[in-house]
Amino acid sequence: MGFQLTSKDYVEYIKLAYQKIHASGDYITELDAATGDGDHWANIDSGFGKLNEISESLAEMTLFEQFKQIGKTMMSVIGGSSGVLYGSAYLAAAKTLKDKEVIGNEELCGVLSAMLDAIMSRGNAQPGWKTMIDSLHPAAECYKACLAEGLSEEETLKKVKQAALDGAESTRGMEAVRGRATYQADKGVGHLDPGAVTMSYQIETLTDYVLSRL
Ligand code: ADP
Ligand code: MG
Repeated sequence: MGFQLTSKDYVEYIKLAYQKIHASGDYITELDAATGDGDHWANIDSGFGKLNEISESLAEMTLFEQFKQIGKTMMSVIGGSSGVLYGSAYLAAAKTLKDKEVIGNEELCGVLSAMLDAIMSRGNAQPGWKTMIDSLHPAAECYKACLAEGLSEEETLKKVKQAALDGAESTRGMEAVRGRATYQADKGVGHLDPGAVTMSYQIETLTDYVLSRL
């Protein structure tokens, strides 16, 4: 049998993601100061900080309720574009988990795909436009391809993680079409997109967490 994440397990991931994000303040703030208004880390850190604070109550919920609560919390606590985008992503992912007690390989792929679709439609943005989508899109596409090829869960998770990290790195050469980096004369070329980097941190933490439990 493959991996099975319960809502309690997902909260464990949230706590790990908070640690990873919380520890990267100077670096992410520097990235957003170069191409944006410098608040991306503070925004996302306060969202994950709040989730960490309410982790006990999140752990008692079904996956459906938990993902909805995470979405609502992110929408209300995280300022800036990323609050709305992450809020929409979690609300969309919640719908894929209705009546599910665990997240297995197929469901996790479904969660990432639903998040991607929600962010692209809410942000009215496409891959290649130097946003958080440029980490999530390659990860979700890679996940689908691995499932179609029937790769092992271990191989799949490692590839998905690498796709997310490479995707974030690929934003360095991109010209921004959405977000504040579009206000820069060079459209942010030469700089990583902060939202893509924090997205890759979350996917990295999630895949590492699942890998550690295989
Ligand atoms: P703001 O840009 O409002 O200050 P944040 O600083 O919290 O919000 O987040 C900025 C990040 O949000 C960017 O680095 C980018 O990844 C992402 N982003 C901004 N606009 C969009 C959009 N329309 N679609 C997808 N992602 C976006
Ligand atoms: Mg900002």
